Amino acid sequence: MQTWLTQAFADSEAGKEADAILRSCVHCGFCTAVCPTYQLLGDELDSPRGRIYQIKSLLEGETVGSETQLHLDRCLTCRACETACPSGVEYARLADIGRAEIEARVPRSLPQRLLRRVLRFVVPSTARFGLLLKLGRLLKPVLSASLKRRIPISKPAGIWPRIRHARRVLVPAGCVQPALEPGIDSALARLFDQHGISAIPLNSGCCGAVSHHLSAPDEAIGYIRASIDAMWPYIEEGVEAIVITASGCGAMVQEFGHLLRDDPAYAEKAGRVTALCRDPVQIVENLKLNVTGKGCRVAFQSPCSLQHALKLEGRVEALLKRAGFELLVVEDAAVCCGSAGTYSILQPKLAGELKSQKLAALQKHQPEIIATANIGCLTHLNTASEVPVVHWLQLLEETGSSA
Ligand code: SF4
Ligand code: SF4
Repeated sequence: MQTWLTQAFADSEAGKEADAILRSCVHCGFCTAVCPTYQLLGDELDSPRGRIYQIKSLLEGETVGSETQLHLDRCLTCRACETACPSGVEYARLADIGRAEIEARVPRSLPQRLLRRVLRFVVPSTARFGLLLKLGRLLKPVLSASLKRRIPISKPAGIWPRIRHARRVLVPAGCVQPALEPGIDSALARLFDQHGISAIPLNSGCCGAVSHHLSAPDEAIGYIRASIDAMWPYIEEGVEAIVITASGCGAMVQEFGHLLRDDPAYAEKAGRVTALCRDPVQIVENLKLNVTGKGCRVAFQSPCSLQHALKLEGRVEALLKRAGFELLVVEDAAVCCGSAGTYSILQPKLAGELKSQKLAALQKHQPEIIATANIGCLTHLNTASEVPVVHWLQLLEETGSSA
């Protein structure tokens, strides 16, 4: 694709990156077939190729308005288009650049600005989000049935084993997961402990994903630097990995090295954090698990962050099969469930349609349970699922896989 970016933008680092990405697109349209918003809306402007054209126009200095912003807002950043693209177009990085640019040029309505501001204020703060959740639980008896389902019951975290092994990994808690499902990280800690690995819990705060996806890049960088500062002493002590149980957060931490590549104070540290970052499956698949699933029928929802961003498609499914679970076929497994960070709040109609489609596919063969790998998907699907939705680590623990 030929490009004529505005001179001022073309000379910037973001401009050079955007130019290279735009030029790698050959307009073939293979990506449109896998795009959830194109499937739902049937509009080329809501397809990856259409969005790439719109971002190109934007960066070439053409006048764009709230229509273009809407088409970019509707994108889930699920990255299914990247997996399908034969030319290796880095769509998500281009979308980040385009979104930051349009945010600076096209003013949003006051209600939209307020909602986005509230989300950025509440969600990345474990304390504020936890308080809001407690309030929701208190008010649950007087809430409507649909709101009630959005508020999960309080669950205990369970015991976190003491640090006793020479092998050690760091487990950052993230922002919303400790309030919503505190048992996921501790299930990982117990499993690792049984296999000679100590998990060190860390309240390192938000990884910056919420701000990043709400087009507040400077705020995101602040969160990233704070996370790195919190992790750094443990990295210097020699932890062998940073294990992140929410694949959405893991996908963000994988980007730290790239996002801070020009930061003289943090570039090297960010690269180190990215190099140490692991999804739990990358460690658990090397452990000697007992086969204890006893043929329990499981439908696995593979989060976009796990399969399209971290490129770990099929790995959890293989591990669960090895542990004795019956993995059911899930049609259109590459399609997003509609959770996508704050997407389900900002685009409730599209998110609701994607959730219904996903649950129909997951429940088609009557699973006893649905497993996933990301807290956002878990919470989103649990609001309407007929069977419980859990993190696959909880599933392993409940069925007693151990050394
Ligand atoms: S599949 Fe890749 S190269 Fe083809 S139109 Fe989509 S982004 Fe461009
Ligand atoms: S990231 Fe997902 S929603 Fe966005 S254009 Fe690509 S496939 Fe479509």
